[in-house]
Amino acid sequence: MLQKVLIANRGEIALRITRACKALGIKTVGVYSDADKDLMHLRFVDEAVCIGPGTSSESYLNIPAIITAAEVTGADAIHPGYGFLSENAEFAEIVESSGFTFIGPRPEHIRLMGNKVSAIVAMKKAGVPTVPGSAHAVTPHNALAEAKEIGFPLIVKAAAGGGGRGMRIVERVDTLLESVQAAQRDAEMWFGDDTVYMERFLQKPRHVEVQVLADGNGHAIHLYDRDCSLQRRHQKVLEEAPAPNLPEQARADILQACVDACELIQYRGAGTFEFLYEEGEFFFIEMNTRVQVEHPVTEMITGVDIIEQQIRIASGLGLNLQQADIEVRGHAMECRINAEDPQTFLPSAGKVENYFTPGGAGIRVDSHLYTGYNIPPFYDSMIAKLIAHGKDRETALARLSQALDEMVITGVKTNIPLHKNIILRDAKFCETAMDIHYLEKHLLKPFMPQEKK
Ligand code: ADP
Repeated sequence: MLQKVLIANRGEIALRITRACKALGIKTVGVYSDADKDLMHLRFVDEAVCIGPGTSSESYLNIPAIITAAEVTGADAIHPGYGFLSENAEFAEIVESSGFTFIGPRPEHIRLMGNKVSAIVAMKKAGVPTVPGSAHAVTPHNALAEAKEIGFPLIVKAAAGGGGRGMRIVERVDTLLESVQAAQRDAEMWFGDDTVYMERFLQKPRHVEVQVLADGNGHAIHLYDRDCSLQRRHQKVLEEAPAPNLPEQARADILQACVDACELIQYRGAGTFEFLYEEGEFFFIEMNTRVQVEHPVTEMITGVDIIEQQIRIASGLGLNLQQADIEVRGHAMECRINAEDPQTFLPSAGKVENYFTPGGAGIRVDSHLYTGYNIPPFYDSMIAKLIAHGKDRETALARLSQALDEMVITGVKTNIPLHKNIILRDAKFCETAMDIHYLEKHLLKPFMPQEKK
């Protein structure tokens, strides 16, 4: 087993990883920026090292500073969490060539999946169903011919894309060329790579994803699926597991296809296959080669500690689980609590005047907040994850609703009212899962004027 893990991240996920290491008896090293001296997990780690100024590019994305911190503290492994350097293949390579263990997939798989075009090609080959589309780079020269094959509406996406940025929907042929060119410019600006591709734009899909664990030697299992359709600007707002109301055969087939693909490429570690699901069919859109924000809903229904498994696999201990060990118990839902104005969605940094966490049966809160904590303006606005588990979806929803009522965060604005007033009391959503446009189309608009009075 690894002896000392450096946690190359911040916020709730750094605390989550600290907890997992403690439970395994592993020593921990925290790293932090100048703006982050007061992070909660720094109180629990064995050592803490400042790695630079508040700006991410100079601290949490500063590879030499992180490697130096690992060297001076004698860490033997680095856990990247999510975001920041977690899907940077070059970072994984440098970690390993510097003599540390990277708690994550092999660099070659991070690279393969980091480019969506190569990911789609590889998954097609492995028998995973993909969205009808180009599966190679599109330029103004070949766009028209490709579009004729795909049909309209279609979506132009950046191969190196992430965070829902830079996607363009094209309804008609006359806007095709300008959309491809604009998408190329956006892709260059956001990701430093102007490669774009096109695929069919699905009208009312759900976002369904599959969690996998693999030992790197051809043994993989799945931890079932999640539905993350409630999104705003392609960013997840509420997630649940298992995905409600899927035809059982289609579910079984897609779970198996993901396991087979992992075994074929000898994937290592935790990963998520993301799909769009429409009318009984799954279409692969991308794979995330890291732990995800929404991993707790899967932990709640399977009882598997995903971060512990990541550490075990990285330690070379393999998978101590077989597929037959994994059973779904009940239903879990997670609200992402963001420090933002619930009407304008502008981030709201500042001091947390009062913080009270809900509790009771089936409630889990993953957060680094505490009363008096100052939320710095430099980072992602997600400050807490509120998770509820129950014997079925109805019970999980009831517990989540109560927990939202109990939760107190004052001093900064949060999106708790959004979760409370809309999502949980929306009869349609409470009945079953919705498509990816539902939140923006039906819930956010009526919510805004009501809240203004
Ligand atoms: P990113 O990596 O930027 O998050 P994804 O490829 O995962 O990009 O897509 C993010 C979201 O964009 C999806 O969850 C879905 O809401 C929407 N989307 C992506 N591709 C399509 C498509 N072909 N048709 C309809 N919606 C799509």
